[in-house]
Amino acid sequence: MIVMKFGGTSVEDARAMNNVINIILKAQSQHPIVVLSAIAGATNTLLKAASMSLEGQLDEAHARLNQLLERHVTIAENLIDDRPTIQQLILSFKRRFEELKNICHGIALLGELTPRSLDAIASIGERLSTLILAEAMEQRGIPVELVDARTFMITDDHFTAAHPLFDLINAKATEIFLPLIQAGKIPITQGFVGVTPKGITTTLGRGGSDYTASILGAALGAKEIQIWTDVDGVLTADPRIVPNARKLDVISFNEASELAYFGAKVLHPSTILPAIQKNIPVIVLNSKNPENTGTRIISNPPPSTLAVKAIASKKGITVINVISTRMLMAYGFLEMIFSIFSKYKTPVDLVSTSEVAVSLTIDTTTHLDQIVVELEEAAEVNVLTDKAIVSVIGERIRSTEGIAHRVFNALKNINIIMISQGASEINMSMVIDETDVEEAVQRLHAEFFGQ
Ligand code: ASP
Ligand code: MG
Repeated sequence: MIVMKFGGTSVEDARAMNNVINIILKAQSQHPIVVLSAIAGATNTLLKAASMSLEGQLDEAHARLNQLLERHVTIAENLIDDRPTIQQLILSFKRRFEELKNICHGIALLGELTPRSLDAIASIGERLSTLILAEAMEQRGIPVELVDARTFMITDDHFTAAHPLFDLINAKATEIFLPLIQAGKIPITQGFVGVTPKGITTTLGRGGSDYTASILGAALGAKEIQIWTDVDGVLTADPRIVPNARKLDVISFNEASELAYFGAKVLHPSTILPAIQKNIPVIVLNSKNPENTGTRIISNPPPSTLAVKAIASKKGITVINVISTRMLMAYGFLEMIFSIFSKYKTPVDLVSTSEVAVSLTIDTTTHLDQIVVELEEAAEVNVLTDKAIVSVIGERIRSTEGIAHRVFNALKNINIIMISQGASEINMSMVIDETDVEEAVQRLHAEFFGQ
């Protein structure tokens, strides 16, 4: 059995949904369980309608909801031939949207939007997309079964970012899905959506459908988990910077984590952790190019011939230099610095220390002013803005000689402000000026992957 998760762009319109049906059919002999996102943009629209209602802009909220309703109607009409089925679907959509409008009224009236209401609203997107796909497949005589995620994705009541209660999920998922698979059915369920033990709808947080797929795959011991997106997989660099960036066939979970952390936008590795922990391969695939073999993310890939797997970059970085001749080596100085960042919930990306200074980078500057004021009580502080991090990532960097030489040779003439070899030793990161990023990434890519 395998889990196939399709993201929002894979179900954005009737054509995309048709592709999805074909992809599922091709995998039928592997006993797929299908996890779906809302159609592209739906979750954003739903949340926007909620916040507009809160601000009293009910008409505008309704207008957006109507547009979203129309999009669903159009998909149903273009995907399904049978008129009565379409009518039935439209009726269900309308009922959902009436409910939504009522909730929006309530929000406007009370002037209150709770996380619990947000989840009730946000969950509608996945409930609609799965309804369409299930109906369309059933119409074509495919044995599908729509499973409401709220029958097995049990979570705590941390609304908008609920935590899965794994023991309960494992038991429920086994009880619900295994008999369906045995009966030759293709279960279709919502990503992202959960429920508290008391039956209140929750969500797993934005982008949570990947998490659903991984939790479900781990619970059921799936052979693999496929994450269908609209890119060919994980690439050696951002294709907008390096047009000839290559797709990677396999990367380790650690490499995927470093890549995501340092700027690649494929998928959030923490969401696939349950699968990785169970040694279930996660494969990133492209629903717009299904023949491509994608990228496999596994915990322990066989040793690669490439020491460097990919180049990542992240702009909008701020460097904070904390300089103190007196205090640095004193006991507790670093702790004092970090406690200030932690007080303002500001994550630090890179750290590098010298005899007299500590340099740190952050990418969230919401509390920068307060942080600087507090740091200045103990040390001299200077702040450099508009910087970027360029990272060279690969599991074998730690065991390969000469990487640093090649990195610095490639970057000669580019001003390097800070260097850090991550504690995991699978990334080497340099802070440079934002304006140098393209050049730096291109040169590093040429050095490690050829022109
Ligand atoms: N629809 C949800 C979101 O946009 C979950 C997902 O697509 O993964 O965040
Ligand atoms: Mg997503």
